[in-house]
Amino acid sequence: MKYLSEYRNLEATKKYLDLIAKTATKTWNIMEICGGQTHGLVKNGIINLLPENVRMIHGPGCPVCVTPLNLIDKAIELLENGVIVCSFGDMVRVPGSKKSLLEAKANGGDLRILYSPLEAVNIAKQNPDKEVVFFAVGFETTAPANALSVLHAKKENVSNYSILVSHVLVPPAMEGILDDELCTIDAFLGAGHVCAIMGTEEYYPLVDKYKIPIVITGFEPLDLVQGIYMAIVQLEKGEYKLENQYSRVVKEEGNVAAKKMMESVFEIADREWRGIGTIPESGYRLKKEFLAYDAETKFGISSIATPENSTCIAGQILKGIKKPHQCTQFGKACTPANPLGAPMVSSEGACAAYYHFSNNLITS
Ligand code: SF4
Repeated sequence: MKYLSEYRNLEATKKYLDLIAKTATKTWNIMEICGGQTHGLVKNGIINLLPENVRMIHGPGCPVCVTPLNLIDKAIELLENGVIVCSFGDMVRVPGSKKSLLEAKANGGDLRILYSPLEAVNIAKQNPDKEVVFFAVGFETTAPANALSVLHAKKENVSNYSILVSHVLVPPAMEGILDDELCTIDAFLGAGHVCAIMGTEEYYPLVDKYKIPIVITGFEPLDLVQGIYMAIVQLEKGEYKLENQYSRVVKEEGNVAAKKMMESVFEIADREWRGIGTIPESGYRLKKEFLAYDAETKFGISSIATPENSTCIAGQILKGIKKPHQCTQFGKACTPANPLGAPMVSSEGACAAYYHFSNNLITS
C-alpha cells in the first residue's frame, strides 16, 4: 500500500477484526506501548470492536506522562528566576507540585512554546544576556533533535544554552513492566516511531528472555488491527518472536545517523519515571564533555525533589494495572481543564483519550 488513507480503510480494518475474532480462542492481554497507539485504538472505537477475550492494556509510551513531577518543578524554578524556558506545547499545561509552566508564564515567566530545540539555540543567540533552557523531554524519538541542538550550540559557541534532560527509553520500561508481579501481559505492540529511530535489534533479547511476542506496529486503524492479529496468531501457536508490521517506516537498522548523533552526546543512565519510580539504565543523560549544556548541573537544581500527587494513579495506568475510568478522580476532580496528572493533559495520555472519546468506549 502506498497512501496513508489506505491504512484508514474501513473494509480492510473490518476484515482484520473478523480474523482476530476467528483466531483468538483464549483470553489474551496485549499492551500497546505508545500513547499514539492508545489514541488510535480509542478514537477509532477499535477497543470495543475487538472480541471480549482480546484485551488491550495501555502502556507507558506517553513522554509527557512519564516525565517526573520534580522535573516540571525544576523547569518552573528556572522560569521564575529569569531563565527563558522553551518547551514543546504538550508539557506546558502539565501540573507541577504547585502550578504548571503555563501558570508560571502567566505570572511573568518567559516561556516559549517551540517545535524544535534548534529554535531555542537561535533564541539563545538572539538573547546573549539571558540563559535559555530547552525542556528536553521524550523517548528515543525526540532525543536526536535534542542531541543536535547541543552539538549545534557547541559548534556556534552558544554558551547561554542548555537542556533540562528527561529522556527515557522504551525497552527498559517494557522489562520493568514484565518484571512486575502484577503483570498479566501476553504480547506487546511495539512503538513504531521509536523503532524508526532505534531499529529492531534491542527487542530480540526481550522476546527471548520473557518468551513474549512483540509486533512493531504503526498508528492507523489498519496498522493496529493488523498488529493485534499478528500478535494473536503467535500467541495461539505458542510462538514468540519479533515481527514488524510497520515495515513501511521501520528498518532493521533504524536511523543510523540519528543513533550516532545521540550516542555522541548522551549516555545511558538510571531515570525516574512518573508514577513508576526509578528504572535502572532506562534513559539518557548528557556525557561528561557536554555537561556545560546540562541545565541541572549549570543551575544547581538537581536536588529539587517532589512527591507525587497521592490521589493520581498515573503509575498504575502507565503500567497497565488499571484503566483510566477506574481512577476515582476520572472525569470528576480530574478533567483536561483541571488535570490532576499528566495522562489527562497530554495529547498521548490514556486518561485524556478516555475522556475525549468516551462515546467510543464501553467502560463497564
Ligand atoms: S484520571 Fe487524572 S488523577 Fe486519575 S490517573 Fe488519570 S490523570 Fe491521574
